[in-house]
Amino acid sequence: MISRRVVLAAAGLSFAGALAPGLARAAGRAPAPLPAFPLSIAVAEEAAGTPVRDDAWIDAQIAEAVRLFEPAGVALRKVGSRALAPRFSRLETRADRDALAAAIEPRRINVMVVSSLRDVDDPGRFRMGVHWRNRATPERRCVIVAANARPTVLAHELGHFFGLGHSGVDDNVMSYTRTGAPVSFDPAQIEKIRSAARGYAASKAFEPA
Ligand SMILES: [Zn+2]
Repeated sequence: MISRRVVLAAAGLSFAGALAPGLARAAGRAPAPLPAFPLSIAVAEEAAGTPVRDDAWIDAQIAEAVRLFEPAGVALRKVGSRALAPRFSRLETRADRDALAAAIEPRRINVMVVSSLRDVDDPGRFRMGVHWRNRATPERRCVIVAANARPTVLAHELGHFFGLGHSGVDDNVMSYTRTGAPVSFDPAQIEKIRSAARGYAASKAFEPA
C-alpha cells in the first residue's frame, strides 16, 4: 500500500508540472519555448584522417553562435560531426559548392567546414563563409565555413540561414566590419530570427535537437 501511495503522489506531481507551462501561456507570460535546432557538422579532410580544423576550433564557432542566438530564444545544438572527403576541401567554383548537396543530411542545419572557399564573383578573393543554396534544388542548402574564418562567421552564416541580410553597422553580426567592440544582432534582427525559427518549428522542417 505504501508503495502505491508513493506512485500516486509522484503521478500527481508530474501532472501539476505538466499543467504549469499551459497556465503560463494562458496568462500571457512566457511564450512556448522553441525546440533546439540541430547542427550537423561535416569537416573536410585535407588528406585522409587530417581534418582542416579540429573539434576545439569548431566548438568555439558553435559557442559564439549559441551565445549570439540566445537573445532570440533560439537554441542551437551540435548533433553530430563527420568527415567530408578531401575533394570537398578546397571549394573553387559554384559547381564545387553545389556538389556539397550530396553530403547534406535531411532535417538538420548542415555546417560544412572546408579548407578554403574562393569567391565565385571575384576569384581573386577568398571568403570566410557562405550560406549556399544548391542552384538546381534551392531547398537543399548549407552553411559553409572556411578554415580562415574569424570567430563570428558561423553565427553570420546562420543569420542568413534564419533569413537575415547584411548590415552596414560596425560590429553587427551581419556586417563585414569588426572594430574589436562586442558583436551582436540588433533588436529587429532578433525578432526576425525568432519569427523564422517559429516558422521552422511549425513546419517541422528540422528534427528537434
Ligand atoms: Zn553574409
